[in-house]
Amino acid sequence: MASISSTSISTPLYIPMHENDNVAIVVNDGGLPAGTVFANGLTLLEAIPQGHKVALSDLAQDDPVIRYNVTIGYALRALKKGSWISESVLRMPAARELVGLPIATRKAPVVAPLEGYTFEGFRNADGTVGTRNILAITTTVQCVAGVVEYAVKRIKSELLPHYPNVDDVIGLEHTYGCGVAIDAPNADVPIRTLRNITLNPNFGGQAMVVSLGCEKLQPTRMFPKGSIPILQGNEPTVVCLQDQEHVGFNSMIDSIVKTAEEKLKVLNARRRQTCPASDLIVGVQCGGSDAFSGVTANPAVGFATDLLVRAGATVMFSEVTEVRDGIDQLTARAANPEVAQAMIREMEWYDNYLTRGGVDRSANTTPGNKKGGLSNIVEKAMGSIVKSGSSAIVGVLAPGEKLTRKGLIYAATPASDFICGTLQLAAGMTVHVFTTGRGTPYGLAAVPVIKVATRNDLARRWHDLMDINAGRIASGEATIDDVGWELFKLILEVASGRETWAEQWKLHNALTLFNPAPVT
Ligand code: CA
Repeated sequence: MASISSTSISTPLYIPMHENDNVAIVVNDGGLPAGTVFANGLTLLEAIPQGHKVALSDLAQDDPVIRYNVTIGYALRALKKGSWISESVLRMPAARELVGLPIATRKAPVVAPLEGYTFEGFRNADGTVGTRNILAITTTVQCVAGVVEYAVKRIKSELLPHYPNVDDVIGLEHTYGCGVAIDAPNADVPIRTLRNITLNPNFGGQAMVVSLGCEKLQPTRMFPKGSIPILQGNEPTVVCLQDQEHVGFNSMIDSIVKTAEEKLKVLNARRRQTCPASDLIVGVQCGGSDAFSGVTANPAVGFATDLLVRAGATVMFSEVTEVRDGIDQLTARAANPEVAQAMIREMEWYDNYLTRGGVDRSANTTPGNKKGGLSNIVEKAMGSIVKSGSSAIVGVLAPGEKLTRKGLIYAATPASDFICGTLQLAAGMTVHVFTTGRGTPYGLAAVPVIKVATRNDLARRWHDLMDINAGRIASGEATIDDVGWELFKLILEVASGRETWAEQWKLHNALTLFNPAPVT
């Protein structure tokens, strides 16, 4: 995979994000000891770990602490210049109310279209383009998971070698379908997620379903006949384990294998062809974030996002709790008032969902985030949101919905890595870009995942898991633009078939449905 280069730096260094900031983060691996003097004379009054914040000026009690030109908290007591501004000395601001927001006020920068970039993809009958050629076996219920897993092993060992143009065979297994309140209004979310994942461009429109028979989520409910244009005349083939025709375990397996072979014959005829970059559907998210996420990897992703949008492609960003504190930036960047209102609708829905559970957005940050220097969700969100670049936001999806247009899209999802990835798959994602500071081996069976490290130290230690090292931005070896272009080009190569590290090691995290509805 991509070669990773990185060096350690010995000069004490900190990075502010904006001229109005009164804190900045320490860059050096291992942090810096008390008494460290920076080139401008700033002296550390105490030891500060890497990624954590130093006060650039004296702060009085209740003074705003500003990073990214945003108040990320208020000082709980007076703090001298050179102090460590940790979570314990900060009070978090309340979430911005969802009224009186700027609506479609910010004009996106005028940029020329980016032309001439292509990739080699698998074009489908409906015009979508896959980046992989995969037979996916949809399941209606967890009860069939063991049987499907057994059948997939047999298909891969006995059939797949005869269909060399097919990359893989996977079971779309999940925990939904049995014991669920199927008519609850929010049950729409997991049901449409499963339906739309089956329609992902990487599966070539060759849907097959394994059902148990007695489950709440019947195949006809997952795929109401005639309601899905892409499947018209090509309705999913269903194997139902409780059907009378099955006598013994091997009868079920034979039936699944036989159905799979019909699908493999069709998929094997697919060939990669040159497609414009505008046919790409990229989902971006972060996981295991640290204070560098918003300084290195996420700004580089934002730069690549702008390039993709200029090339006419689709980019989705997500993770509601990680944009909630920047909602005013997003409603301002909406292409029109309808998009801004849809964004507010999704934030409101999620605020209510969290309130029902007795928490708020502050439940997002993890022990690892805090160890990595992120004091609270406001600071984390400011670093997360930059993945969206600077283009106008042209569309909003509720969780589990499928894309209907190109451009920069806000796809509302939880921030949980697996749930976000699963919902972006349902939306139609064909390449996933994932940034990490603490490090996670995350991967998906259905689409390639490109992992971007925020720090040199992580890129060095996890050299065969990270595809791109954005830590070089912090050490001055590369600019945001350099890494952004590198990522853009890698996305095109990976879309054309180049393997990511997660693919090489076959690292597949589970499909994880978002089910806000009751279970019975
Ligand atoms: Ca995430």
